[in-house]
Amino acid sequence: MIPIPDSHPRAESLRVRERLVECLRNGIVVEQGLIAHGRGEAFDYLLGERTTVYAREAIRASVALLLLAKHPVISVNGNVACLCAKDVVKLASLTDAKIEVNLFYRSYEREKAIEMLLKEEGAEMVYGVGERASMSIPELMSERRRVDKDGIYSADVVLVPLEDGDRTEALVRMGKKVIAVDLNPLSRTARSATITIVDNITRAMPLMVEAAKELKGEPRDKLDGMVRSFSNAMNLERSLAVIRGLDREDAETGLDSMDR
Ligand code: ATP
Ligand code: MG
Repeated sequence: MIPIPDSHPRAESLRVRERLVECLRNGIVVEQGLIAHGRGEAFDYLLGERTTVYAREAIRASVALLLLAKHPVISVNGNVACLCAKDVVKLASLTDAKIEVNLFYRSYEREKAIEMLLKEEGAEMVYGVGERASMSIPELMSERRRVDKDGIYSADVVLVPLEDGDRTEALVRMGKKVIAVDLNPLSRTARSATITIVDNITRAMPLMVEAAKELKGEPRDKLDGMVRSFSNAMNLERSLAVIRGLDREDAETGLDSMDR
């Protein structure tokens, strides 16, 4: 691996790339995952590689939704496992969510490799591996339609970082609330999810863990208010305005949208 100097303007982004390549070699990530990440990087560049105030609002609303859920599930694919397995485990434990492996390019070896990584990070039970993924999401053709009866199939809220549009739409049609993390505010995923966090998962997941610690003790009606007052369409418009340079919001101001 080539050492990356801290002074390099894209240092963090390059480290993430190196990590993904390492995960490709050990069978967690597939080639297509690298390309999908590259598309994400382009949007991140335009956002300024930082978490906007709008992403922060979406993160808080998402955590409130997870805390209110009866059967929350966090869906994990190769890139998610590679980039934030530890935070997935922490967030699942703070919100009493199940963790399910769900792959577009499914193979038993890869499912097992991802399960093992999650267990190394402290997960006790990982759903969706092997025979467990025996139920189908209606109308979906890819291998991603296969879900665990006790996991995504019976969930009321599903966190699907890096989801594709088809499956987000299918999950919503099944009556589930879907939380997506997607750097592209124009994607079908972003448009059809209940809440979309327009941020890099490498930044969003640690912030979700912090928000879960903070909001865990809050009364249900307060959490409910946070979810109700969130508009996904409006949040996406604002994220897009940041990308287009029309909104010079400063991620460090900590202002919420009501103040501007
Ligand atoms: P859709 O099917 O929703 O219309 P798509 O076909 O563009 O979208 P995919 O190719 O399925 O989407 O997935 C790639 C997308 O995942 C990228 O466009 C990017 O927005 C998102 N993405 C990739 N890596 C990250 C990351 N690290 N953090 C957040 N989002 C990411
Ligand atoms: Mg897609």
